[in-house]
Amino acid sequence: MVRVWQRVAMSELEHRTRIGRCACGGVRYRIDGPVREVMDCHCEPCRRITGHHMAATSAAVGDVVFDADASLSWYAGTPTTEYGFCSTCGSTLFWRAGDKADRLSIAAGSLDGPTGLSTVLILFGDEAADYHRLDPGIETLPGDH
Ligand SMILES: [Zn+2]
Ligand SMILES: [Zn+2]
Repeated sequence: MVRVWQRVAMSELEHRTRIGRCACGGVRYRIDGPVREVMDCHCEPCRRITGHHMAATSAAVGDVVFDADASLSWYAGTPTTEYGFCSTCGSTLFWRAGDKADRLSIAAGSLDGPTGLSTVLILFGDEAADYHRLDPGIETLPGDH
């Protein structure tokens, strides 16, 4: 079964190297390949890890090059998902799923702008915090169907 979010298109923008980092610069990376448009996730683990919700693009693991990663730490937020963060400044940076080892999801806010990306899908919209107003102009799924 192909899930809806697996059909989200890769960005059609020109191929260019994107760079990103955490707040303190202890983790710095480059993406030398195509990236996916941004998806928001409002599931409870993403809400707690980020303090709001996850807004992430993704890239092939092999296209992400680290210029610094000494403070990159991973936390097993769910039985199948790990979150990458900077252990010095606390920035949310990545998440990865055990069953999709070839992809790395990248917190969109860690990228240098302009990113050229758009938010195209909202996951776990039914779990969004009650203070948050979902954008009615963006396709929203309950769960991650
Ligand atoms: Zn940092
Ligand atoms: Zn989530």
